[in-house]
Amino acid sequence: MIETLEQLLQDEIRDIYDAEKQLVKALPKMAKAASSTELSDALKEHLEQTQGQVQRLEQVFEALGAKAKGKPCAGMKGLIEEGQEVIGGDSSDELKDLAIIGAAQRVEHYEIAAYGTARTFAEQLGKQDIVDLLQETLDEEKEADEKLTDISQTLLEGISGSQESDEETTGAGMGRTSATTRQTVAPKTKRSSGM
Ligand code: FE
Ligand code: FE
Ligand code: ZN
Repeated sequence: MIETLEQLLQDEIRDIYDAEKQLVKALPKMAKAASSTELSDALKEHLEQTQGQVQRLEQVFEALGAKAKGKPCAGMKGLIEEGQEVIGGDSSDELKDLAIIGAAQRVEHYEIAAYGTARTFAEQLGKQDIVDLLQETLDEEKEADEKLTDISQTLLEGISGSQESDEETTGAGMGRTSATTRQTVAPKTKRSSGM
């Protein structure tokens, strides 16, 4: 039973530890399924980061004086399952890449929430060494999320204006929105390309 905030922190860390380990297995599959080199490279880069994050969590366990042991994270399991559905789908390369990004960003947001919670608990407990470790990973997750947003923008620019024939076959309501959709996407081409 969890009776103290420190025990709750340890429980959260065990959940995240399992989540990160699941992700280490899933990311190579996502990278392989991506058509865009930029996306594939970003996912591979995040795999390396994720391996470092697992090690950082082992340091957190050490600081807590606890054994590094995961506890099945059902949230990450579900998110990865959704990612696999996307990979197994039969849409065009560009749309599949956009869907992979959507799945990957769900994962990042889940992690951002989990690390934010754990970091705040560690702060409350005055465990600065743990705060620093968790914050470092939290920053990486936020960066990974932003990178995915950038890649998504690039992919959307690539498909903007090439949707006419597709949308003629869809419902009248959808068809009418196509011009508007293109216009809202187009101005974003001004986004700086330096990353
Ligand atoms: Fe992570
Ligand atoms: Fe979880
Ligand atoms: Zn991540």
